Amino acid sequence: MRIAGLQKLTLLDFPGKTAATVFTPGCNFRCPFCHNADLVTGPATRAGSHEGDLSAADVLAFLEKRRGLLDGVCLTGGKPLIQPDLADFCARVRDLGFAVKLDTNGGFPDRLRALAEANLVDYVAMDVKNAPERYAKTVGASMLDLAPIEESMEVLRAGSVPFEFRTTVTRELHASDDLRALARWIGDASAWFLQNYRDAESVLGGAGRLHPWNVDELRALADELRASAPGIALRGMD
Ligand code: SF4
Repeated sequence: MRIAGLQKLTLLDFPGKTAATVFTPGCNFRCPFCHNADLVTGPATRAGSHEGDLSAADVLAFLEKRRGLLDGVCLTGGKPLIQPDLADFCARVRDLGFAVKLDTNGGFPDRLRALAEANLVDYVAMDVKNAPERYAKTVGASMLDLAPIEESMEVLRAGSVPFEFRTTVTRELHASDDLRALARWIGDASAWFLQNYRDAESVLGGAGRLHPWNVDELRALADELRASAPGIALRGMD
């Protein structure tokens, strides 16, 4: 289990719970709006151990000391499902009494299904990046097989683990009609969050290249999209 970072407390990332966040390196996508560029393309993504890595044992020892003080652990990245021994780590975190939240981009449906069926995750947040026709460009690829994404969506819809779909929206990649098509794809999922893009020097595609939606326009569009996707909500735009 490669661990590139640990945030010792978050009140925002695990709905209804106080949590620590564990960051894993590596990702199969290259979304230009990604805020974790170091985890996606930086030195920590090279094969083998890296001097910045934390050991799973050290992280578990930290969690042991937080028993009764924190409710859960968020696993994010990068993309945690890339780690082949993630299930073992989740089991050890659960054994300590913590709930586990997993972030996924939907690229590994078999691993997602295995974790869910083994009852090793308590909540899943899955990125659904854009309408099918715009997906490849949105994740920085020239072509993309959407079958794993669709299968991951189905794993969550058919399973019993609480989940959310979420989409970071940018002016350049998400036109109104793209979001209309995405809403039809999301359909009646119980929770779909739109998050507005935030520009930063460190974004993967470079600062100034992408722009957020006007919040009032996005709110009006969300009201329209609710007919197709009743679980829609805006996040972080109050
Ligand atoms: S936004 Fe998520 S899926 Fe996209 S490159 Fe970053 S970590 Fe990977």
